[in-house]
Formats: sequence, structure tokens, C-alpha cells
Amino acid sequence: MYTSRPAAFTYHRPTSVEDAVRLLGELDDARVLAGGHSLLPAMKLRLSMPAALVDVGRIAGLDAVEADGDGVKIGALTRHADVATAELVQRRCAALADAAALIGDRQVRNRGTIGGSLAHADPGADYPPVVKALGATITVAGAGGSREIAVDDYFLGLFTTALEPGELLTSVHVPAAAASAYVKHPHPASGYSVVGAAATVSIEDGKCTAARLVIGGAGGAPVDAAAAAEALVGAAPSPEAVATAAERVPDALGNVIGDTYASADYRRHLAAVLAKRALTRAFERAGA
Ligand code: FAD
Repeated sequence: MYTSRPAAFTYHRPTSVEDAVRLLGELDDARVLAGGHSLLPAMKLRLSMPAALVDVGRIAGLDAVEADGDGVKIGALTRHADVATAELVQRRCAALADAAALIGDRQVRNRGTIGGSLAHADPGADYPPVVKALGATITVAGAGGSREIAVDDYFLGLFTTALEPGELLTSVHVPAAAASAYVKHPHPASGYSVVGAAATVSIEDGKCTAARLVIGGAGGAPVDAAAAAEALVGAAPSPEAVATAAERVPDALGNVIGDTYASADYRRHLAAVLAKRALTRAFERAGA
């Protein structure tokens, strides 16, 4: 029988990271609750039936956006709306502000958190390709203290990350990029990305000196289209160079997801189109 009510659970509301980690270690089958915009729908559909929820929403200090060296440190509880509008994010890692502004609708952006999205690792989420393109580092707290995970070691597959049971994602450090951009093709019903492309570029003396291109929505985890980005290095940032790089994207994707909305072939096509747009916008931001 269909029900929109979750299965029974106990509710816990710690006020510090230490308490949250202790509860996650002590309670059987406990899950972190942040913005609730992925977890609660899954619980209502009984796709997820945790025995205990540890609501981290009242832990002070986990929702700050602050300068961290040349980059930006973003607390796990920072709402998508606050990531989108943070001047520091817009200036130092514009692709992340692009992605946050494109998430779902106003209500989702005002409740959902960056930590929740990175922990959930939905293949259609917008942050994963962006933090990978920007070379972010994810900080987590667990029973043994805190540890840092390089983003290339973090996303392991469909809804799967390097977070261990009992660990709490506390912040993400995003290095500044010379210029970056993110574009997506949204699903018309949910707004999730069918395919998204994140690009970072650097230019010196009229030539591209570095580029990174990451595609989301095509596989279980974001895919680094390194062979496509490499085609740009050493070239002048022209429409022809961007088109040549974009042509290499479909072959760089490996196995691509196909579903009732978009076949694998359509996603491959979208990835090339969106890669071109993301690279073009990143080069424009670099002043090319
Ligand atoms: P929650 O739902 O509270 O938690 C999600 C999962 O992460 C749970 O398993 C939870 O235990 C775990 N978790 C949460 N925080 C932490 C933490 N700090 N440490 C460890 N584990 C943690 N997303 C997009 O990217 N793009 C979209 O276009 C988009 N559209 C949406 C449209 C709708 C209608 C809805 C309902 C959601 C949409 N989302 C979209 C998802 C949204 O961004 C969610 O907010 C996000 O995926 C999860 O963040 P949350 O804070 O709500 O996490």
C-alpha cells in the first residue's frame, strides 16, 4: 500500500560536531538530517528507513562562507541560496555560484545544503561536477577526528562517496580558479541536471595554459573529460579550439546512463553541446 508517511524513527538534535559524531557512532542505523530535501522524500517513499535521524541543522558555525588562502571554505550547512549569492564564491569560483543558482527552485535552494548534496551524491546533482573541476577538498569529522578527502577520491559512483559510516561532512575547501563556468540541461519536472558541464580555464599571453572539463549526469559519478580539456592547452581560446575540444567529450565519457527521459546517446550529444557552452563562458570570464 502506498503511504506518504516515513517509517518510525527516533530524532536527535546535537548542538556540536562532537555530539553529532558521538550520536552517529552510538545509534544503530542513524542518518544525518541536513536540509532534508533529498532524505525526507526518500523516507516518505520508504526507499530509506533509518532507525534514527541526527539533525545537524542547529550546529552553530557550519554555515559560514569564508576566505581560505586563495580559495573559499564553505560550511556543510550553507544553503544553496547562500552559495549562489556569496560574493566570495562568485569572485573566486564562479562555477560554484552558477551551479547553486541553477538548483531546483527557490524553496529547494533555501533549504538544501551543500554538505547534504555532496554527501548524497545524486548523479543528477549540480555541485559534484563543479567541485571536481575546481579541485576541491572535502573535510569530514568522525570518531577518530577529522580528515580531508581530495575530490578526485571522493565520488565513487551512483550515490556513493568516500564518506565512512558515522562520518559527518563539515566543510568543503574550493581553490580559486582563474575562470570557471557551469551550465546544465535541467530535467523539466525536477530541475535536476540531465547533463551538466563544468569548466575551468587559465589564459596567459593569449594562450590557454590550463583547462579542466567535468561532466555530470552522464555516469554514476562526475566524469573528468581530460582528453577534451587537454586539446585546449597551448591553443588560442577561439571558437574553433572550443569546438575541437567539445568534439572529444562523448568519447571521454565511458559508460553513459540512459533512462526514460534521455537515452545514453542523447546524453553524449548534450555533453558535447554543454561542454562548448561552459568552456565559452569560462573563456569569456577569463577575458578572452
Ligand atoms: P538531506 O536531504 O538532509 O540529506 C541527504 C543525504 O545526505 C542523507 O543521506 C543525509 O544523511 C546525508 N547528509 C546530509 N548532510 C550531511 C553531512 N553534513 N554529512 C554527512 N552526511 C550528510 N539538487 C541539485 O543538485 N540540482 C537540482 O536541480 C535539484 N532539484 C531538486 C528539486 C527538488 C524538488 C528537490 C526536493 C530536491 C532537488 N535537489 C536538487 C536536491 C537538493 O539540492 C538537496 O537539497 C540536496 O541533494 C541534499 O541536501 P540536503 O541538505 O537537503 O540533505
